[in-house]
Amino acid sequence: MSISKVLSDLYQELPSNVKLVAVSKFHPLEDILEAYNFGQRAFGENRPQEFYSKATTLPSDIEWHFIGHLQTNKLKFVLPYAFLIHSVDTLHLLEAIQKWGSANNKTINILLELHLGAEITKQGFSEDEIVGIVQKYQAGAYPNVKIHGIMGMATHTGNHAVIKADFDRINALFNKLKDRFISLTEFNELSIGMSGDYQIAVKAGATIVRIGSKIFN
Ligand SMILES: *Cc1c(COP(=O)(O)O)cnc(C)c1O
Repeated sequence: MSISKVLSDLYQELPSNVKLVAVSKFHPLEDILEAYNFGQRAFGENRPQEFYSKATTLPSDIEWHFIGHLQTNKLKFVLPYAFLIHSVDTLHLLEAIQKWGSANNKTINILLELHLGAEITKQGFSEDEIVGIVQKYQAGAYPNVKIHGIMGMATHTGNHAVIKADFDRINALFNKLKDRFISLTEFNELSIGMSGDYQIAVKAGATIVRIGSKIFN
């Protein structure tokens, strides 16, 4: 199926309150431009160098989402161009982003990544760590960072019940945080769901889905 046809089907299928981020990592500029010409504006990349080269080459009205592991020595390749960083997964990274934002007089939009799936190698904060960070944020820590919500990746499995349980857990945390920190009106994004599990994610409250292989392969 062509890129445009898959996008057209996804636009039909996804509820209007769910943003589609087209994950274009490893795919060439022509593929991104085909999606762009069809009307897609939000794209996701997970490698700083590739993110940088695409963001500085392609049309400037593209909304670039960074969704991968970000080392603090690579911030300059990503932060000047990113619409949203989905994958803030350590306090060290959060503090480095705050420092970069302050030095460059910018506010950086981020999500906090929850360690969600069963894999122990998966990055991310625990639920308690996220609650602690949002509490500090509300109290004025990280003035050059805007926390828009949380992100997670479900267990890598074909078992829908396991994936649903993961997504229900992150959605419960998301709602708990929204209730508890009701003054943080910007805290309203839940980034869950990829090509294989986005339908489960949408049912579980996703506001952003990150879909790559389904669109570009
Ligand atoms: C690659 C990637 C995606 C997209 O995965 P697909 O299965 O290709 O849709 C989504 N989120 C993250 C964090 C990724 O690295």
